[in-house]
Amino acid sequence: MRLAAISIDLDEIHHYYAIHGLTGRGRATDLVYDRAVPRASDWAQALGVPLTFFVVGSDLSRPENVETLRALASQGHELANHTLSHHYDLTHRAPRELEREVAGGIDALLRATGQRPTGFRAPGYLLSDELVGVLGALGVGYDSSVFSSPAYYAAKAAKLMSMRLRGKSSRSVRGSAKALLAPTRPYRLGTPYWKAGRGLPELPIQVTPGTRLPYIGTSLVLSGPDGARLLTRTLMLEPFVNLELHGLDFLGADDELDDLLPHQPDARLGRAHKLAALSAAVELLRKMGFAFIRLDEAARTVS
Ligand SMILES: [Zn+2]
Repeated sequence: MRLAAISIDLDEIHHYYAIHGLTGRGRATDLVYDRAVPRASDWAQALGVPLTFFVVGSDLSRPENVETLRALASQGHELANHTLSHHYDLTHRAPRELEREVAGGIDALLRATGQRPTGFRAPGYLLSDELVGVLGALGVGYDSSVFSSPAYYAAKAAKLMSMRLRGKSSRSVRGSAKALLAPTRPYRLGTPYWKAGRGLPELPIQVTPGTRLPYIGTSLVLSGPDGARLLTRTLMLEPFVNLELHGLDFLGADDELDDLLPHQPDARLGRAHKLAALSAAVELLRKMGFAFIRLDEAARTVS
């Protein structure tokens, strides 16, 4: 039986402002929790798939968000740790801060739901051996951050370079090109983390075999339903598919994303078009024989 998992990173809108060097928070402060999450949960229910949500701990200081997450947990979805504050430059920070960020994310979820999360995803897909050490020390069950896509890496480097040339600063960092040497299928983290070893189970973000194009929400919605099916067909021989989405994938051009429009091509798309692309991918994966499970269940199958 081949397995697939869908996860959604709940990066709230202000994180996108930070990436693009925009000041202020705009009008769209809580759109991910207030609009994207209910839509994602309806979407998953209609397709009959479980989801794994990666939660930024600091967002749980808003009581409405806590209620939203409790509802997701009661529907059988997994809640996992996306750090306390979602610092894009986390891997550049001091060891004590790494610990504070990972432990803070765990504690926030534990307080909100009474359950300790087992999964972790780093902001911006960036790991380091120090951060992996902290995950191990804090008893994290699995990681899902490795993203071995040269195309994604090149696009991010070009974007940061162009911002620098225009004198703008981004909160995002490029990360080491070494991560591109990491396995593209589930493995156990070694030393360095991009080599297979005996450590934590790692469930890498999906890339297409050979070409290693990103197989994530952004690329699916930008490709549209037909393009999403083409990308999905390339996964025919994969034993496991790890589809990573963002809350933003469930917001559309009618959702007051005005400030982001010049920077974020996927913010210009209509919501129905985006959902159609995501559904096309999931329906085809199922037709190809994939069964959908949560990431914590997938991690248990990594030997
Ligand atoms: Zn994120």
